[in-house]
Amino acid sequence: EYVIDNGQLILAEEAKIDRNDRGYHFGDGLYEVIRIYDGKPFTMTMHLDRFAASAKKLDMSLPMTMDQLESLLEQLIEKNQLEDGIVYVQMTRGVSQRNHLYSRSETAVITGYSQEMPAKKELLKNGIDVWVTDDIRWLRCDIKTINLLGNVMAKREAADHDCHEAVMHRDGMVTEGSSSNLFLIKDNILYTHPATNLILNGITRQVVIQIAKELGYEVIEEAFPKDVIEHADEAFITSTTSEVTPIKQFKGQVEASLEIGPITRQLQEAFEQRK
Ligand code: PLP
Repeated sequence: EYVIDNGQLILAEEAKIDRNDRGYHFGDGLYEVIRIYDGKPFTMTMHLDRFAASAKKLDMSLPMTMDQLESLLEQLIEKNQLEDGIVYVQMTRGVSQRNHLYSRSETAVITGYSQEMPAKKELLKNGIDVWVTDDIRWLRCDIKTINLLGNVMAKREAADHDCHEAVMHRDGMVTEGSSSNLFLIKDNILYTHPATNLILNGITRQVVIQIAKELGYEVIEEAFPKDVIEHADEAFITSTTSEVTPIKQFKGQVEASLEIGPITRQLQEAFEQRK
């Protein structure tokens, strides 16, 4: 099994992480998760563009070109003979003695691994329950930072209520899931939070919006209050690993039972074709 350690492809057992990495001290880093279908990366360019955008927003410079990074990830996939799974890649602001102030002279550290991960067929078919809770995260959720405490807390809270995912709201306005974006469908129109600083603009979200428009659906990117969930016809989450996963029940601050409807199924099918 190969991994990426400090920008190099090496055997996993030889990997070494410095204890003074700013990722450990401050969660000072960013990441991407890229899906591999039949040995081929899906929407790799969009992920790499978001990686570069996150780096820019965090005032972090890359220790290699984006082309070099792409080729490194391709080598990882090939060496590990990855078929259906994910590639995780992260970049931290490098190694230095613990100090809140960063200097801009440390070299960023890129690490990564691959993992087989077949589609979760049962969830895609039967849907999931979600737990509605407060969004306690910071105000730069558009950055894909490894600093995920708000997301982690929400996910645990959801699991403690037998839910697969948390759906978060900020002052009553629904933002997104702990590791996914949320869509509601009402009267053949799709609703999802706009790509502002309050959510991560998911790659799957973007692909699904495009697919929906191609299929002739109207997509409204506007924030909606959590109470409208009760009136939705259908709902689903999107992410690199969960693709288009239907929601069958909302629990917690909103209670609603939904049918897994025809538009969700149509989007799932169209997504499957695009893979
Ligand atoms: N929102 C959050 C907070 C996430 O962590 C993720 C993915 O991990 C997403 C949305 C979905 O993004 P993507 O479709 O690019 O995987």
